[in-house]
Amino acid sequence: MSKIKFPLAVLKPILDHLHLEEKKLKKRKQELKKEDPYEDQDRVNDNASIDTDAAEEAGHERVTALKSEIDRTLIRVRKTLTRINLGRYGQCESCGKMIDTDRLAVDPTASLCIDCAKKLPNKKQ
Ligand SMILES: [Zn+2]
Repeated sequence: MSKIKFPLAVLKPILDHLHLEEKKLKKRKQELKKEDPYEDQDRVNDNASIDTDAAEEAGHERVTALKSEIDRTLIRVRKTLTRINLGRYGQCESCGKMIDTDRLAVDPTASLCIDCAKKLPNKKQ
């Protein structure tokens, strides 16, 4: 079995895209930190009303949800970068078959072929 499935000319734009994506996600995470009321340093000393507390909690929950979404995407991006380095890009993680290139064009981080992805209806892979 040959190790490198895609020529560098094909992988290069994907790599560039993934690195850019990683950078954007990291930046977004930093920005989110500032939006999280729980990260507010003044908060420790304020005797906020219950209303404020509730608003802070809602804000914190929203930020936490967004953060975990970003983390999931970051993991996908990093996993894809690792697979490129290993020469396994485009190979289904489950069955080892090549993933359809149309599928990869839509989602470069796809790690399962269409057949395996269908078997996992709840997991968007
Ligand atoms: Zn598969």
